[in-house]
Amino acid sequence: MHKKGQASLKAAARYFKLFVNRLAYTVQSRRPGENGKHYYYRPKDNRRLTLETIREHLSGQLTVGFYALNPSTQRSKWVAIDADYETALDDLLKLQWELRQDGVEAALEKSRRGGHLWIFAAKPLLARQCRIYIYNLARRLRVPVKGGAGLAEGIEVFPRQDELRPDEFGNGIRGPLGVHRAVKRRFWFYGADYKLDAQLDYLERLKKITEEEMAAFVDGLEMPQEFRPRPMVMLPPYDPMRREFRILDYVRPGRRRSGNYWARCPSCAEQGRDRSGDNLAISVADPRKYKCWAGCQREMIRAALGQPIRVKRAG
Ligand SMILES: [Zn+2]
Repeated sequence: MHKKGQASLKAAARYFKLFVNRLAYTVQSRRPGENGKHYYYRPKDNRRLTLETIREHLSGQLTVGFYALNPSTQRSKWVAIDADYETALDDLLKLQWELRQDGVEAALEKSRRGGHLWIFAAKPLLARQCRIYIYNLARRLRVPVKGGAGLAEGIEVFPRQDELRPDEFGNGIRGPLGVHRAVKRRFWFYGADYKLDAQLDYLERLKKITEEEMAAFVDGLEMPQEFRPRPMVMLPPYDPMRREFRILDYVRPGRRRSGNYWARCPSCAEQGRDRSGDNLAISVADPRKYKCWAGCQREMIRAALGQPIRVKRAG
């Protein structure tokens, strides 16, 4: 028996069936970091996800994040579209309506600043196909995609990768119906009563996409060029004496953590963002490697510093 106010193991089992792709998971920190963000981390002992952990998640005792992609199959039970910018809900509703035209029922979940749109599979679908489908849909609807075509704001599609190596985890997303540690509240799906059983009933009732349907959706489509991963650039060994652009001449990092300096991203700052001043990670070992976690591209960062990347001309 479970205590009043606590989710049952039966509810946890129903939830597991809907959302869990692999037994590795993350937990949201109870206390915020210096910048106020509540990070997700993998449990120290690499413990596997159990129904008891899910029960605790559903009861609000802890908050777990799930991985979208299982590297042993390269498949996922779901696709989640995360949007948290100003017009996020408009874009998610646009996507939901358009999906409906394909016969796909997508469930809209509230989030802290926007929402997550969830699509479920009858049986796990190839991440590659799911991604081709959603990115093409977004492009057709002119819904902005974060990182695509240099955009710092836009939707993010989970799975974030087409494939993973066996030792990779990819990106995780907050497990629905848990309690967000920062705001200490639960975010519900709009489609049903705000009660756990009603929500699970609703999610189970949604029409699930079959492999045949997905194959038909992506027939003849490929990943739009602007969303393809860029080829890795091989850099010569780092030589601090060599004359070249040095980002550390332009930005002053606030602090150092896990092999990186962390600084305010100049491109974010230009748009009045990155108030916490830690979107830009710069590798301590090789400062030529830097990355904005809000998705600004190198060209945008260089331009914001008044040091635009020169385009090499042929000949
Ligand atoms: Zn940025």
